[in-house]
Amino acid sequence: MTNAALLARRQNAVPRGIATFAPVFADRAENGAIWDAEGRRFVDFASGIAVTNTGHRHPKVIAAAEAQMKRFTHTCFQVTAYDVYVELAERLNALAPIADAKSIFFTTGAEATENAVKIARAHTGRPGVITFTGAFHGRTFMGMALTGKVVPYKVGFGAMPNDVFHVPFPVELHGMTTEKSIDALNYLFKADVDPKRVAAIILEPVQGEGGFYEAPREFMKQLRAICDEHGILLIADEVQTGFARTGKMFAMDHHEVAPDLTTMAKSLAGGFPLAAVTGRAEIMDAPAPGGLGGTYGGSPLGIAAANAVLDVIEEEGLCDRANQLGARLKQHLSSLRDDVPEIVDIRGPGFMNAVEFNLGGKPSADFANKVRAEALKRGLLLLTCGVYGNVIRFLSPITIQDAVFTEALGKLEESIRAAR
Ligand code: PMP
Repeated sequence: MTNAALLARRQNAVPRGIATFAPVFADRAENGAIWDAEGRRFVDFASGIAVTNTGHRHPKVIAAAEAQMKRFTHTCFQVTAYDVYVELAERLNALAPIADAKSIFFTTGAEATENAVKIARAHTGRPGVITFTGAFHGRTFMGMALTGKVVPYKVGFGAMPNDVFHVPFPVELHGMTTEKSIDALNYLFKADVDPKRVAAIILEPVQGEGGFYEAPREFMKQLRAICDEHGILLIADEVQTGFARTGKMFAMDHHEVAPDLTTMAKSLAGGFPLAAVTGRAEIMDAPAPGGLGGTYGGSPLGIAAANAVLDVIEEEGLCDRANQLGARLKQHLSSLRDDVPEIVDIRGPGFMNAVEFNLGGKPSADFANKVRAEALKRGLLLLTCGVYGNVIRFLSPITIQDAVFTEALGKLEESIRAAR
């Protein structure tokens, strides 16, 4: 069946609220490429939004899931626990940048957000949560409330949970310095909420949907100090930044200070739905037995896949590889700057890279969308992001073969030039 025929059926059968970036239907995928319903191949610089850091259908991940499928696919951890869940918890506790940690598993990033807030509230006995402009933490009600972008995420969805406060995220490129952001936080404590009512400050160490802006080291240090002063917990949302994407296992590994809780999902299980909250044991144990869980939380298939993902990251040196690929990508984009004045910034740690476009001195979503459309024509899948939609983010599998990566860089250059 053609893409056009499938699209027509989709439009009749599926609501428009779930938008799709590319008008093509996936037929199969392998490592860094997806083939569509008409047999066309696309180099995948989206990874299903940062899910396949270890590539589509990594043989070890598939083998682990298959082996688990032959044992059992579901018992519900709340009914009959299983060994691979405990094994993954032990491994994440050792890997996470948090001393003396415990882990619990869920299914989606939004659920990880919800549960991190539940755990923080249970531990502190306080209701408030502080988050940042440009943040994205999911599509559930708490996820939406915490998200710092109105269109399209919050429009029409009514009352949000209260006791959620937004502070400007420091983006020097847009004139918001660390100092100004910290001033705004202190001002919030004076004007809006007593810090003694705040359970947690949650942030993405590198904002994902918001535009791939990295929290400055000094900013994170000051946040940690403010949290310690007021007994507030620091939650790092590593749903998009985790699992070697930034050139380290977790983005918080780049910082001198540690969070109290970390949320994870996406590349944790290399294409299977799995999420986690890992945090300091005394905090994680705050909710009473039965207060946390979910029928599918920590599905055996996702857990088995995740144990294999951790092996692959280590065995294939994916942190080093992320740094190498990211350096090549940024260098290639930099070489275009003289010819493409629309490029105003090229950034990102490791292989969590982005390019930002302006036209006539203003953020240009049109230009970014043109690049995306030109890339699609050439068989390269790209994603945009940013509060203004003027950023192209690159989320290729870190396992992408050299030849495929080089091919993609050529397509990207052609697409940027064609968009002018
Ligand atoms: N947090 C961050 C930082 C994310 O990038 C996302 C998804 N883009 C989420 C939470 C929500 O994850 P999910 O879509 O799995 O609910």
